[in-house]
Amino acid sequence: MVATPAWPPASLPRLYVDQPLSGGATVTLDGAPANYLANVLRLQPGARVKLFDDRTGEWLGQLDQAGRKRVTLRILEQLRPREPVPDLWLLFAPIKRGRIDWLVEKATELGVARLAPVVTGRTVVDRLNLERLRVHSIEAAEQCERTALPLLDAPVALDKALAGWPEDRRLLFADEGGGVPLAAAVRPGPAAILIGPEGGFTDAERAAVRALPQTQPISLGPRILRADTAAIAAVSLWMAAAGDWGVAVPQRS
Ligand code: SAM
Repeated sequence: MVATPAWPPASLPRLYVDQPLSGGATVTLDGAPANYLANVLRLQPGARVKLFDDRTGEWLGQLDQAGRKRVTLRILEQLRPREPVPDLWLLFAPIKRGRIDWLVEKATELGVARLAPVVTGRTVVDRLNLERLRVHSIEAAEQCERTALPLLDAPVALDKALAGWPEDRRLLFADEGGGVPLAAAVRPGPAAILIGPEGGFTDAERAAVRALPQTQPISLGPRILRADTAAIAAVSLWMAAAGDWGVAVPQRS
């Protein structure tokens, strides 16, 4: 599966390409990106496109050739370097298709550095299509103008994730059983948010997570949120308090 951006684009079309970009280089695209540029947008030679590679940043490209199945672009100039990404991981139990796609899309837009599915005792989804999730993440990054993609991990069991937990990373454990309000718990520095599945965590899991010294149990208020709502609410609060939402953004042209 290859990502294709939402249509119609508000400004120049913007695409992720999985190859390092540099000024003067030629990039050849086929498959879905080529189809999007040549057949959906019907771009002609000379048209401008923004490209990013998750390595060097964002570049302005110009269409050289637009065949039905293959498009060639010349890289003109760098527009932006690769951005620094707020150091927030989102650990989440896999949930149903549709909801997990939404979660990945929104977490990417909100700016997380890493998406880490964790399998818990009450996780009901037994197979995760990582390729589909990656496509959703790329489409979201294209749309929201990220120049860096979040890492997307293969699922690991919760106990394994806890066993290898980095010493310097706080684990903000969204515990529907209670905790301090997230807004009061956020500190600068590396962090992760842990969200459970539809059925919540088992008592043994809650005890194991709480036993980790890096854990801070947090509450997301008096109502029980769906897992996807909880994830996006928590990431938003963290981004506002410790992420890059505190930085003034210059007026966009
Ligand atoms: N079945 C669980 C119950 O009834 O207690 C609810 C699980 S909830 C749908 C899914 C996950 O979202 C939880 O495991 C937790 O991580 C998070 N969550 C939902 N509401 C929350 C809240 N008010 N405070 C903290 N975490 C919450």
